[in-house]
Amino acid sequence: MKALTLHGVEDVRIETVPDPSLIDPTDVIVKVTLAAICGSDLHLYHGAIPGLLPGTVIGHEYVGEVVEVGAQVRRFRPGDRVVGSFHVACGTCPACLRRDFNVCVNGGTFGYGLGFGNLDGTQAQYARIPYADTVLRHLPAGLSDEKALFCGDILTTAYGAVVNSSLQPGETVAVVGCGPVGIMAVQAALALGAGRVLAIDLVPERTALAERLGAIPIDSSKRNPVSMVNQLTGGEGADVVIEAVGGTRTLALAFDLVRGGGRVSAVGITAEESFAYPLNIALVKDITFRIGVANIPRHMDATLALVAGGRIDPTVVVSHRLALEEAPLGYKLFAERKASKVLLLPHV
Ligand code: NAD
Ligand code: ZN
Ligand code: ZN
Repeated sequence: MKALTLHGVEDVRIETVPDPSLIDPTDVIVKVTLAAICGSDLHLYHGAIPGLLPGTVIGHEYVGEVVEVGAQVRRFRPGDRVVGSFHVACGTCPACLRRDFNVCVNGGTFGYGLGFGNLDGTQAQYARIPYADTVLRHLPAGLSDEKALFCGDILTTAYGAVVNSSLQPGETVAVVGCGPVGIMAVQAALALGAGRVLAIDLVPERTALAERLGAIPIDSSKRNPVSMVNQLTGGEGADVVIEAVGGTRTLALAFDLVRGGGRVSAVGITAEESFAYPLNIALVKDITFRIGVANIPRHMDATLALVAGGRIDPTVVVSHRLALEEAPLGYKLFAERKASKVLLLPHV
């Protein structure tokens, strides 16, 4: 089959690799009908994540059709249309039984290398999905591949970040970063009852999209976001800040934006090991800080229902639809911020 492989910094290629086959009885083989490039793939592309052998198939956003099922798979049959979580979870360990699927002891992430379960990625024509009964969901009838795809990663990641913030109806949410994840956070916060969403990014086209979705745009390349948020909140700061960039600078900004007694919920990924925690600010302002990788199987049914019900249209971020063969171009455009979201078609 054809697949996208990573060979080094900014070196991705389309190659012919062996077709995946069932290994464990809980596996499913999926014919990938739609894949996508995630901001998290850019960390691999820039060489920021160790533990990837040259030639690793990468990618972790996917929708497809089941073509083969292991003997212990209960919920899926060949021909089923499915969307899957970007990370796997066994469904039976103590963490999974608590629904903390993101810390499953048998977990891993597709196409993220040796440190994440050494699973082949999904920017490929076919993929092996471990623990399919926990990782996959059927597509609701009539839902397009494009709309469903986002439920396996970035929409559900953003939705989970908002849930983790304990948002109350009517509260003001500041979203730092209006990349695809930030745009999903804008939509999730509004769907979950935010009174106002203040959307911050350095790229005006990105805050403009947030504005079309109902947010108040803050172009932080021209305006100081802290003074803007203070001005819009009577000097208090935001009730909730969602950090959707990754890195210590934007985390520090989140602590400056949040009001006393407010909550910071971060999903951005960074290769930095540590962050100078603003102890005194957090103490004096009584701030709750939440950070964690997404818990997709926990929240995916909710996001699928919101998308199927027309409450959220995640496809607003899509700028490019490319054949898998053109994925190297897709990576280049996405890395240069000339593409806001790249979808990949493996079978055209
Ligand atoms: P992206 O790189 O496409 O978007 C990031 C956005 O942040 C861009 O629009 C950029 O202009 C903006 N930005 C950069 N610096 C900024 C600053 N100082 N102030 C304001 N805006 C700034 O990435 P994405 O796909 O939207 O993903 C966002 C982050 O979420 C990435 O780090 C990604 O790895 C992470 N992520 C995490 C999970 C998880 O499980 N926690 C899942 C998916 C994605
Ligand atoms: Zn991702
Ligand atoms: Zn588990």
